[in-house]
Amino acid sequence: MTVKNGTPYDSNNIFARILRGEIPSKPVFENEHAFAFHDINPQAPVHVLVIPKGAYVSLADFSVNAPDALQAGFWRAVGEVARQLGLEEDGYRILANAGTNSHQEVPHLHVHIFGGKPLGPMLLRDA
Ligand code: 5GP
Repeated sequence: MTVKNGTPYDSNNIFARILRGEIPSKPVFENEHAFAFHDINPQAPVHVLVIPKGAYVSLADFSVNAPDALQAGFWRAVGEVARQLGLEEDGYRILANAGTNSHQEVPHLHVHIFGGKPLGPMLLRDA
C-alpha cells in the first residue's frame, strides 16, 4: 500500500512507533528535531533514514504545517547525519518519497540517505 496525498497522520505508523521507542531501531543520530536510524532493508552499503520529531505524513504536509524551527532543524539534521556518517568526501544521495507515484510506504516524512558506493543513475529509465 502506498500513501496518498492528503492522507491523515496515523499515529500508529511504524516510524511513529520507532520514535516512541515501542519498536527497536538502530539509531545513528538524535536531537530535539530529528531522529536517524538504519533502514531495515538497506539498498546501499549506507542506508539511513532521517525523520522529523513531529506528526507529518510527507514533505507536502511538513513544508506547509511544521513550525519554522522544526523545518530548519530537520534539514540541518539531514546534513549533519551525512557528515557524521563520513559520506561527504565520496558523495551520497538523499531521497524522500511522497505519495502514490513515488510508492511512499511509511506515512511519516522520512529522508533516505544512501552512500558507500557509486549509486548509479538517479532513476530507473523505462525499458
Ligand atoms: P518509503 O518507500 O516509504 O520511502 O520507504 C520506507 C522505508 O522504510 C523502506 O526503505 C523500508 O525498508 C524502511 N522500513 C520499513 N519498516 C521499517 C522498520 O520497521 N524499521 C526500519 N529501520 N526501517 C523500516
